Amino acid sequence: MSSIATDKMPDAGGHFGPYGGRYVPETLMHPLQELEAEYSRAQYDPEFQREFEYYLKDFCGRPTPLYFAERLTRELGGAQIYLKREDLLHTGAHKINNCIGQILLARRMGKTRIIAETGAGQHGVATATVAAMFGLKCVVYMGAVDCERQSLNVLRMKMLGAEVVPVKAGQQTLKEAINEAMRDWVTNIRSTHYILGTVYGAHPYPLMVRNFQRVIGDEARRQILEKRQRLPNYLVACVGGGSNAMGLFYPFLNDESVKMIGVEAGGEGIAAGKHAARFQGGSLGVLQGTRSYLLQDEFGQVQLTHSVSAGLDYAAVGPEHAWLRDLKRVEYTYATDDQALKAFTALARLEGIIPALESAHAVAEVMRRAPGLPRDQVIIINLSGRGDKDVAQAANFIKF
Ligand SMILES: *Cc1c(COP(=O)(O)O)cnc(C)c1O
Repeated sequence: MSSIATDKMPDAGGHFGPYGGRYVPETLMHPLQELEAEYSRAQYDPEFQREFEYYLKDFCGRPTPLYFAERLTRELGGAQIYLKREDLLHTGAHKINNCIGQILLARRMGKTRIIAETGAGQHGVATATVAAMFGLKCVVYMGAVDCERQSLNVLRMKMLGAEVVPVKAGQQTLKEAINEAMRDWVTNIRSTHYILGTVYGAHPYPLMVRNFQRVIGDEARRQILEKRQRLPNYLVACVGGGSNAMGLFYPFLNDESVKMIGVEAGGEGIAAGKHAARFQGGSLGVLQGTRSYLLQDEFGQVQLTHSVSAGLDYAAVGPEHAWLRDLKRVEYTYATDDQALKAFTALARLEGIIPALESAHAVAEVMRRAPGLPRDQVIIINLSGRGDKDVAQAANFIKF
């Protein structure tokens, strides 16, 4: 495999090969250009970098540990398994890395109001948190069905002073929440910055969010070299929009010996059609500002998706992932709800760590794969979040 020109991805128009770009109404062109310009300046401004690193360290708790999962490794009897502990971050998942970066940009642009979309509520909580920290007004759009399913996170956001707007259109989940956030942004461009939560949407979001999340992979690389004096054989991460996976993978893309696996939500199975595995049943299309793989019917209607984990339950996937799949640099697979729930309990019982149901999809893939690998191989799993938010739901499925 030839090396990938990672510094040239995406091109100036935000394209990753045939994917990505900027497909928005004209009224959103200006704020996206403004954001792109500010981000380009900030990216090479040492003061911005210093601030970003300061808040990641002192507010969020970085660097997160790279932990050797000794009992899980022994139980599976194959490759050695390390966990990148994003679950230990403030607010409980990797989402805060991106929120810190974007709120600092919003302040540089003089914005006084923050909006965000959220599915499970994790990104909403992270956004409400950074908005509170800087005293900015915050409005979070959330599908009405998701508000019901994730009522604890709704309360957390309100506790942090954010306004939560339940969106009643369509399926009343994440897709509709993003539509509402975009509508708000068009109306309030002057005062408002939209903190999008993953490597999705119109340029520059996929680029910018990946760069804010690459701290995960930069740290993991340093940590494994320190602990083992070698690179890992495998990196494994779950893929919703794809930000925790891109964050881990990106700094390793040119290390040809490192294999990478992205795990989508297989839901109740691919054949049943109740899943969110875009690379299994999806096709090329445009949704919410970008061109990528999405689950749609023959008429271009976005299909209903299903996953036990709300954070992976979205019809489209980030454009950089679609490109890395074409390049065969990353392999994409899926774990079903059942497999994820088994991995959820296994990690809790073997390691004393309750993972987010999203992250449990990555653990499930490793449980499938590790036993067949030689014992001198090393796997790093991105443990993208903690499972406190999921215990009530998981309890419905697990026999104690
Ligand atoms: C939101 C979320 C995900 C999925 O989002 P990505 O952008 O694919 O990372 C995964 N894990 C956790 C814990 C989340 O909160």
